Amino acid sequence: MVKKLFWQNPYLTELQTRVVDTIGNDITLEHTIFYAFSGGQESDHGTIGNNRVIKACKEGKEIVYTLDDEHCLRPGEPVVVRIDWERRYRLMRLHFAAEIVLELMYRTLPSIEKVGAHIAQDKARIDFKWDGNISAVFPFIASEADSIIEADHEIVSAFSDEEKEERFWEIKGFARVACGGTHPGKAGEVGKIDLKRKNPGKGKERVEVYLRE
Ligand SMILES: [Zn+2]
Repeated sequence: MVKKLFWQNPYLTELQTRVVDTIGNDITLEHTIFYAFSGGQESDHGTIGNNRVIKACKEGKEIVYTLDDEHCLRPGEPVVVRIDWERRYRLMRLHFAAEIVLELMYRTLPSIEKVGAHIAQDKARIDFKWDGNISAVFPFIASEADSIIEADHEIVSAFSDEEKEERFWEIKGFARVACGGTHPGKAGEVGKIDLKRKNPGKGKERVEVYLRE
């Protein structure tokens, strides 16, 4: 099973490892820093042994990387894995911005229900089952989120169950939430955020989270 170093250290951008197996253009690795879509967070972009990764897919605890064209890699071969750091760092910051907003939503509107979430490079979105205009609480949510971000709290990300690969993030005194994504080490790294409302349908409200820079 691939060892997922993006959890141990989400700031690694380059890694020397080995190919474990190849089937056509699909390969598996011994270690990885290359996140594969899960928990709503999009996959990283990057290369393995200078071959572009066109898809990263979580299969149970394994991650299968699909490379483009003829890659010529063989099992046991040493390779360098590189990720697009600009993209990943935005994903990490937006992911955590969404975590803070979600936590504050639950506290502000206790009967609200999350029905979906997605973190992309340009924005994060959270969908809620909710009758009414959710933007009524935005000024309060935005100012609470700002104060958590400005306080620059440490964000602990760790295993709750290493065998099952179950993880959580925690800001002491604020929240502890189950999540297997990648998060920054300090809340201040998120920076200034903006919230926008989208109404995707009856009884459903969408909150979009943007980084101001
Ligand atoms: Zn998370």
